[in-house]
Amino acid sequence: MTRITVLGSTNMDLVAYVTTAPRSGETVTGHEFRTIPGGKGANQAVAAARAGAEVAMIGAVGTDEFGDRLRATLEHSGVDIDLLRTTEGPSGTAHIVVDRDGANAIVVIPGANGSVTSLSHADRAMIAEARSLLIQLELPMSAVLEGAEAARRNGVRTILTPAPARPLPPELLAVTDLLVPNEHEAATLTGISGDPERAAGALLAHVPEVVITLGARGCLYASRAQPEPVAVLAPPVTAVDTTGAGDTFVGALAVALAEGRPMMDALAWASSAAALSVQRPGAATSMPYRTEIDA
Ligand code: ADP
Repeated sequence: MTRITVLGSTNMDLVAYVTTAPRSGETVTGHEFRTIPGGKGANQAVAAARAGAEVAMIGAVGTDEFGDRLRATLEHSGVDIDLLRTTEGPSGTAHIVVDRDGANAIVVIPGANGSVTSLSHADRAMIAEARSLLIQLELPMSAVLEGAEAARRNGVRTILTPAPARPLPPELLAVTDLLVPNEHEAATLTGISGDPERAAGALLAHVPEVVITLGARGCLYASRAQPEPVAVLAPPVTAVDTTGAGDTFVGALAVALAEGRPMMDALAWASSAAALSVQRPGAATSMPYRTEIDA
């Protein structure tokens, strides 16, 4: 099996379903509440494990009951959590209000994720042994950068999801092999909105390869070797919940690339994985297993 290491966040998503979201000072009665294990790091780890890789997760949960559940979710998906620390205090939480149109408003409190400011010798060794390192922007930048630099020193491919959207330090871009923003993140990074082809071209000034995901429209790939962007269409499906679509896509893409598949095949396979996930509710719970993606 190919080995993938994820350096990223674990959060418990606390989701309130309402008709209309409350305004400041207002109280509304909702109709449902769910706690859903998430965090972009944990979601990508589950996606890659289900897609067939041996996955190790570096990050942190808190000493609250959410921490136990977040650990258990990763463990049940077959993710190696030996390097997932437990730090005194609360786990990361995302407080989400979803209205009847599916629009959401989110407050993220990093909790234990914020304690991951640097890496241990064992963390760096786990990165060095992997074929790919998956990173996002929900851990402190110092740790993200240290992980990406360790990957670069050891010839490990670094795949960066630049979410939540924010400008990136040039030192991080300098050690990123493949950047996978969605359309909104690509616009934040480049200042170019509504023109993903041009945004992809602009991003190639900073990283050698880029995939911009475009929701139901699929994705665009461009590289310094092949700067003219190539579109990969998403399979036409009826989406019921697109939460975690991007994380499913990245997890599956990382597995296919780590197995040595050509980029176009890997993108088609990742698109199939993401299309399966959007047809089912939830984030991690909706992610497909390898046999389903192959079918
Ligand atoms: P994110 O979840 O990060 O915002 P996107 O919405 O761009 O990312 O979705 C990531 C990928 O998931 C897309 O490139 C596509 O392959 C797949 N996807 C998302 N929404 C749909 C959909 N409605 N139908 C089919 N595939 C989808």
